[in-house]
Amino acid sequence: METLKLKKGKGNRVFNGHLWIYRSELEGAHPAIKPTTVIVENHNGRFLGIGDYSPSSQIAVRLLTRKKEVIGRKFFRERVKTALELRKKLFPGEDSYRLIHSEGDLLPGLIVDKYGDYLSVQILTGAMEARKELIFDVLEEILKPEGIVEKNDVATRKLEGLEQFVRVARGRVPESITISENDLRFEVDLLKGEKSGFYFDQKLNRIAISRYSDGCRVLDVFCYSGAFALNALKYNASYAVGIDSSEKAIELAKKNSEINGFSGRCEFIKANAFNYLRSISRKQQKFDLIILDPPPFAKSRNVLNRALRGYREINLQALKALNPGGVLVTCSCSHHVSPQIFLKTIMEASKDAGKRMVLLERRGQSPDHPVLLGVPETEYLKCFILKCF
Ligand code: SAH
Repeated sequence: METLKLKKGKGNRVFNGHLWIYRSELEGAHPAIKPTTVIVENHNGRFLGIGDYSPSSQIAVRLLTRKKEVIGRKFFRERVKTALELRKKLFPGEDSYRLIHSEGDLLPGLIVDKYGDYLSVQILTGAMEARKELIFDVLEEILKPEGIVEKNDVATRKLEGLEQFVRVARGRVPESITISENDLRFEVDLLKGEKSGFYFDQKLNRIAISRYSDGCRVLDVFCYSGAFALNALKYNASYAVGIDSSEKAIELAKKNSEINGFSGRCEFIKANAFNYLRSISRKQQKFDLIILDPPPFAKSRNVLNRALRGYREINLQALKALNPGGVLVTCSCSHHVSPQIFLKTIMEASKDAGKRMVLLERRGQSPDHPVLLGVPETEYLKCFILKCF
């Protein structure tokens, strides 16, 4: 194994719990090292950890361990088992969840979602890509899946010089499968669906809306496969409208409303959320519970201001469409938008809408997407529940 040294004065972030080492913090350029496991030392030669080296990314090393240990089959087997034990504790009796959340499970560059008997794997670093057959072996050994999908279609792979593709890596995977969440059934397309096919990160937030759904007219904006709307209907919402700009998402949401027996109490409409929200505010249509779960508006810090304008606009229009006493569930999955900035944006929207709001719940991502202390990038989802006076 190659040993890389940090420059003098660098290393505090690692001591504080972070797993990343930037290229600018390393002594030397190391152009000849392939994506592989390396030892990292501080400038005095003190051992800091073992991690995955990336020749192309600005994040040069992602630490796997702070101990002197062999990074092989046994190491990955233990990490996967630890991750699985946590999920079994979090969601007893359930079989679909995020099993491995990259840094959050001390496996940087690896995401695994479990859909019953199937696994969807996303690999984000060159070193993880180089050992992926070993990872599949370990997953097969521990979980015995019917099939494993490699859902490697994310743009961030380009930063590592990796190609984007989706394929069945092991076993067989049907075109669509059905999973259950909160006793509801959802059809999932593991090969062509958004993300890995389902947004597990909102699982507990969907349960949280049960407290506010009874007898409500619900608007689920950015609904994807209808999961928030269907949860609201399960908890006795009188009617739900779901909006998404993707035709495929709307088809899926309609199908899911049918398989759960709710199709008479909801409609799903293909529309741009910004236009739809403005049109209902013009038409004075009102709702008692509105959910806003947009895609990440700020994928990088550079576009933060534009993103905040987007959040302000959708929150303003949603607040205008809220009945007195109504509840707004508003989310942001952009890491670059801090909870404080997000709340300030909602506050500005409420001022513009002339509505007084109380904050009932500050929520985040479900715990199968663990936040690793010291790695702020692992915390991304904000979900605030507010009530209108
Ligand atoms: N609430 C969903 C997840 C939403 S993901 C769930 O719980 O499963 C974000 C969704 O926003 C995606 O389905 C995407 O198709 C949709 N979307 C992106 N831009 C949009 C826009 N401008 N208007 C409406 N929908 C949009």
